[in-house]
Amino acid sequence: MEAEIIAIGSELLTPYRSDTNSLFITAQLNEIGIDVVSKTIIGDERERLINAISLAWERSALVILIGGLGPTEDDLTRDCAAAALGRSLHIDQSIIGTIEARFRSRGLRMAEINLRQAMVIDGASVIENPRGTAPGLWIQTDGKVMMLLPGPPRELCAMFETQCIPRLREVAPRSAIRTRVLRMTGITESAADEIAAPIYTRYANPVTTILTALGEIQLHLKSFGRDEAEALAPLHELSAQLETALGKYIFSTTGESLEEVVGNLLREHGAALAVAESCTGGLLAQRITSVPGSSSYFWGGVVCYDNTAKTHCVGVPKELIESRGAVSSEVASALAEGIRRRAGTTFGIGITGIAGPGGGTAEKPVGLVYIALAEPHGAHVLERRFPGDREVIRSQAAQAGLDMLRRALIGSKSEPRP
Ligand code: AMP
Ligand code: MG
Repeated sequence: MEAEIIAIGSELLTPYRSDTNSLFITAQLNEIGIDVVSKTIIGDERERLINAISLAWERSALVILIGGLGPTEDDLTRDCAAAALGRSLHIDQSIIGTIEARFRSRGLRMAEINLRQAMVIDGASVIENPRGTAPGLWIQTDGKVMMLLPGPPRELCAMFETQCIPRLREVAPRSAIRTRVLRMTGITESAADEIAAPIYTRYANPVTTILTALGEIQLHLKSFGRDEAEALAPLHELSAQLETALGKYIFSTTGESLEEVVGNLLREHGAALAVAESCTGGLLAQRITSVPGSSSYFWGGVVCYDNTAKTHCVGVPKELIESRGAVSSEVASALAEGIRRRAGTTFGIGITGIAGPGGGTAEKPVGLVYIALAEPHGAHVLERRFPGDREVIRSQAAQAGLDMLRRALIGSKSEPRP
């Protein structure tokens, strides 16, 4: 079964509110094997709304309308759905009773305009709303379903989960959807797609999309079947091929963050880490310590921003900074080795670079970052030139530091990139 969602409300077309309900609904629908194929956001405007509902009803087996069920003048969903379906509305006395009781229990009188919320489309059944005054409506004909749900998330979520999902389970053909995200780093989107596309384009099921996040590429796989086993089989098959082809670039297939993966590897190896950060200003330490239990493998870090701090706190020779410059392969290496030695840990990471916007030169431009990893048998350094603004450069540098350590722990060296 394919679903279409229409979120209704002029506020959802402003920069201040977003349609979060459809995300919740989509997650719930996917759980029972229903795919969302289209989403629309419409302001509180009669003509547009009727057109959108008519179109959705023509082409989709499941149409979910969210919002616009309030008592005020701009709440048009009931009327417009009735118009699109060519049906009339009638007053439901039991809903009036429920709304009146709700007001009475709070010592209030029901306003005349709330009567609107007791209007029911002919042939519709009511979806009760224990958390608010606007009930939902469920219309079912010829194997197709349209539902109208109130906008407030706490009302909608409870109604959808406890009433709509059980009813949909009975109506929808038995099916399952399963998803997997392959998270990668240390590779560009185009390079990843060059490797992955020849593999995933051979499959219509799963459907694969490639997405980028900061310092990360993700392959999203979504597979369909009549039941879980049938959906999982092609998912496992394609995922295994992609994992083989993309190997060391993939850091997780089950949702863990890079810092969690690195933490687990350090724990497995019984290894410990200390960091000395210049341009990332503690970002790396922040990410590592965001993982609960990181004290078992993370010694700590030093933010050595000024040159004197590099010397006093980590023991980088003053002459080295003077001769090579603070942003240099040699200083990165000395930071990593210095902190490793002082902390007595298995690994040390040193990061130094130019995050900008000022401070760049032709020889050492903004975005130039050296990331060093000191291990028991020596240190090695990566030189990177990250594009982007200060925040992007700092974030990419921390990501590269984590990935360098991950690669060392899985026995696969990070290769230099242009
Ligand atoms: P309504 O049902 O149109 O009266 O909406 C009531 C409240 O729910 C308002 O605060 C809306 O901003 C909020 N709301 C409506 N639709 C959505 C949506 N799709 N996602 C999140 N909030 C919504
Ligand atoms: Mg509204």
